[in-house]
Amino acid sequence: MFDLYGFECDDWLAWVKADFIEAVLNSMTNTTVDQSIEISEDTTPEFRFLDLELSRDVQQAIMMSGYTSPTPIQAEIIPFMLAGRDVIGQAQTGTGKTAAFALPILSRLDAGAEGPQVLVLAPTRELATQVAKSFETYAVCMPDFRVAAIFGGQDYDVQFRALRRGVHVVVGTPGRVIDHLKRGTLNLDSLKCLVLDEADEMLNMGFQEDVEFILDKCPEEKQVALFSATMPDPIRRIAEKHLQDPAHITIRRNTNTAESIQQRCVFVPEREKMDLLARMLEAETTDGVIVFTKTKDSTITVAEHLSKLGFAAAALNGDLPQKQRQRTVDQLKSGQLNIIVATDVAARGLDVQRISHVFNYDLPHDSESYIHRIGRTGRAGRSGVAIIFLTPPQRGKLRLIERATKQTIELVNRPSVKEINASRMVRFKEQLKSAMESQDLSFFQTVVNEVAAESGKSLDLVAAAVAQIAQGNRPFLLKDEPKRETERWDRDDRREREPSERRGAGRQRFEDERAGRSGGRERRVGGPPRPGMLRYRIEVGHADGVRPGNIVGAIANEGGISGSEIGPIDIRDSYSTIDLPDTMNASAIQTLRRTWVSGKQLRLRPLGSEDRPTTVRSGGSSSGPRKPKQFAKNR
Ligand code: AMP
Repeated sequence: MFDLYGFECDDWLAWVKADFIEAVLNSMTNTTVDQSIEISEDTTPEFRFLDLELSRDVQQAIMMSGYTSPTPIQAEIIPFMLAGRDVIGQAQTGTGKTAAFALPILSRLDAGAEGPQVLVLAPTRELATQVAKSFETYAVCMPDFRVAAIFGGQDYDVQFRALRRGVHVVVGTPGRVIDHLKRGTLNLDSLKCLVLDEADEMLNMGFQEDVEFILDKCPEEKQVALFSATMPDPIRRIAEKHLQDPAHITIRRNTNTAESIQQRCVFVPEREKMDLLARMLEAETTDGVIVFTKTKDSTITVAEHLSKLGFAAAALNGDLPQKQRQRTVDQLKSGQLNIIVATDVAARGLDVQRISHVFNYDLPHDSESYIHRIGRTGRAGRSGVAIIFLTPPQRGKLRLIERATKQTIELVNRPSVKEINASRMVRFKEQLKSAMESQDLSFFQTVVNEVAAESGKSLDLVAAAVAQIAQGNRPFLLKDEPKRETERWDRDDRREREPSERRGAGRQRFEDERAGRSGGRERRVGGPPRPGMLRYRIEVGHADGVRPGNIVGAIANEGGISGSEIGPIDIRDSYSTIDLPDTMNASAIQTLRRTWVSGKQLRLRPLGSEDRPTTVRSGGSSSGPRKPKQFAKNR
């Protein structure tokens, strides 16, 4: 040890090393170390994987994966993580974020050390499994490397065995990780790095306390990498409390709905959705398809219905055993299955490049989920189609979705019988041509010729008989159908109208819908409520863009009232009145007070004499709290 300018040499070397690392980081990222970095996901990184100081084994695995260059998040995050810095990666799935943390982590692992060195927390078992698999892929040249995925729903014994054998990396969901910590089967004393993957989703799923608990169980000295698509306040607070001087990298998504994903919308009553889905699947040219429904039960009902119609479809939901879910995803990837019907949670992070269509059979809860859903298509440079089914009461959501995705959504009609029949013909002819080109048909050729010779009939008649036998009893072509109710909901509904015109049009449309539902019974606005009905005031009006259909749908769904029990609706500029049965109980009224329609709470209350429409000042108490980004009504 020697003295140089007052520093002892070891100190001096440490300083030089730190300066050097900082200079390297600066030159690689073209920015100062402390700066937050925001780049577009389309940026082409300036350097190759070989320029990053990843270990040889990891470089080898990258080559074997066929990756040619790092994605923007990898290019930005890897140098920081290699230098041991805490990082915040604000990025969505599909940006390559898993490799962004897995590659530097594997490069820095001490293969011989005892105890888990890395813990990755993920919101769902799907993501945990996927991340563990990615670690295995990138550690393919590290034969001693061991990773364990631990999540709820899996047998404890499997996890006990994996943890007892000793692992370098544990990937788990918060609940199960805590279970193991409490049982003493997982010890984090040796931890060097903690990754919080999809942190916002973990919080959305109610894991905040669990995440905090786990963070408190980790050693003080550790590297923390936090990945999150969004940065709501609770995530910022976690970052402030648990991360030290983090580098913050944001990958700006060019609302990739722009070029690669085309969005379309069809208006359809709830009861006709299943039929519409089958029709659209016939009429569209699809490859892989994901249909999103809102409940686990409906994933099964819809998948079963499609299977009965001959589609290669299966359900994917959180109630299915993990093995079955993995098998379903693998089958979708390989083309054994073409359609999966999934809930949002089960499809999180799903990365299947052949997805050509995403159907929003039911609307998701918010715009984030919607953007995540449609991001399952249009991947890896391909184009994709996202189709939204909106029931008439949800009509107002269309504009919210357009705003969230910054894209105009094309309104389309349900495919007509003519279109379906035309596409059946095209498909049938294609099947025949492909069989003639690619299969050995010599045996059947002999048979067909024999039949023609024996019967003295022409070959085309024999071919037609073969096709009829193959078709069985099912009619090949659909029959013409009567004009449907849905055809009345046209695109004109989206036009901005003057208030007076809107009022008339709104009422007219309501009556149209009511006529459809209740056999044409006319409902007039004006006069006192009918016997047995009470008049209520609700705080949405023309100014909020509300239509009678929105109100009827919300009140029927949330208040548990049948459509036929709902009386006249009078929509004013800043509020509306509605007649409802006087037998409605207090809890239904309470629910309806909190129900959201057109971005506002209804705040339903009996119309008192002081509140009569004529005496209410417009804009008075109508401006309830806004609830941004919500497509779905309060549930
Ligand atoms: P992730 O955002 O981690 O879910 O990754 C999305 C997909 O990108 C996965 O299928 C990865 O295999 C793939 N991927 C990750 N990094 C790269 C890369 N540098 N080049 C090409 N594909 C990549």
